[in-house]
Amino acid sequence: MVKRNILLNPGPATTTDTVKMAQVVPDICPREKEFVKIMREVEEGLLRIVHADPAEYATVLFCGSGTINMDVCLNSLLPENKKILIVNNGAYSSRGVEICEYYGLPHVNLKLPLDRQPDLTLIEQTLQENTDIALVYTTHHETGTGLLNPIREIGALVHRYGAVFVVDTTSTYAMRPINMAVDEIDFCMASAQKGIMAMTGLSFIIGEKTVIEASANYPKRSYYCNLYMQYEYAKKHGEMHFTPPVQVIYAVRQALKEYFEEGETEKWSRHCRVYQTIRAGLTDLGFHIYIPEGQDSGLVAAALYPSDPAWDFEKIHDYCYERGYTIYPGKVEKLGMFRLCALGAIDREDIEAFFVVFREALDRYGVSVPVRYE
Ligand SMILES: *Cc1c(COP(=O)(O)O)cnc(C)c1O
Repeated sequence: MVKRNILLNPGPATTTDTVKMAQVVPDICPREKEFVKIMREVEEGLLRIVHADPAEYATVLFCGSGTINMDVCLNSLLPENKKILIVNNGAYSSRGVEICEYYGLPHVNLKLPLDRQPDLTLIEQTLQENTDIALVYTTHHETGTGLLNPIREIGALVHRYGAVFVVDTTSTYAMRPINMAVDEIDFCMASAQKGIMAMTGLSFIIGEKTVIEASANYPKRSYYCNLYMQYEYAKKHGEMHFTPPVQVIYAVRQALKEYFEEGETEKWSRHCRVYQTIRAGLTDLGFHIYIPEGQDSGLVAAALYPSDPAWDFEKIHDYCYERGYTIYPGKVEKLGMFRLCALGAIDREDIEAFFVVFREALDRYGVSVPVRYE
């Protein structure tokens, strides 16, 4: 048994012991047929999670954290003389904008309010005014705040204007049910340490084969991070172009097994139940939650710092950390907040036990309860 920590940060998530232990395997060269077979299994499992027909969609694996997927999609899927539209209402879409800036990719940064779902008419107007937009990019769930974007509605608009829709689903994949076709997604992405509850180091993009194949002729802007090159190599050789994170892939195989055993609906109900317990616990203590119910992802609650001078996030964090619970700061500039996330192999009882410790921490440092806001 490994000490069980409850990670309430937005990934990496708490994993099961069976997933941890799946990494302890005899040494193997990843070019062996035995390993190639495992990679295939993993690719197929990842497609199944988002109900993607293997005839139409492919999984492309990369060694790296989730940001590598964002980089790859943005730099690889833009044809010459075309533009990207970023529907930007959070820290992760802003990172998408930064990637465009680094590569010098022509883009429109549609900045929208961070605390509510976007006005679809503004997105449509932008598509009307910029007929050279070939790629629309957004985040399904802005993990910095907990805001959920209506991707199905955005996707329908994007497709009406003939563009490709790329969605960063890193913090929803394998948690909120996603169906590529029904949700109007052409490309989605995630990494192994979030929804599937495996380890860090493997990221993956799921996308339409016809679009990836068309991108063979698009400008090549990166060597290591090119989508078509990685796809083509895997298609020919059944493996990643460069060294894969071998042990992580064993953990992913085990995590997928556990995912399908738990089941899509059951797993999502568990995350919902964890999230509801978090929201209720925070509300009971008087905390204000940044994103209103109904516009939230059901996975991340961002609570505003109280104005009580006794409140000190670091101290509260350390108190909880020493007792096996990790809490995490927010991600909105100039607004003090912290996040409690419902990712990982945890359930309601873990949150109830956390709130006992959290309440002790508030008392220990003299933060008055219910917490105060001016
Ligand atoms: C976690 C996350 C990423 C990836 O972040 P890394 O630090 O590179 O793993 C990307 N997008 C979203 C929405 C995320 O939650």
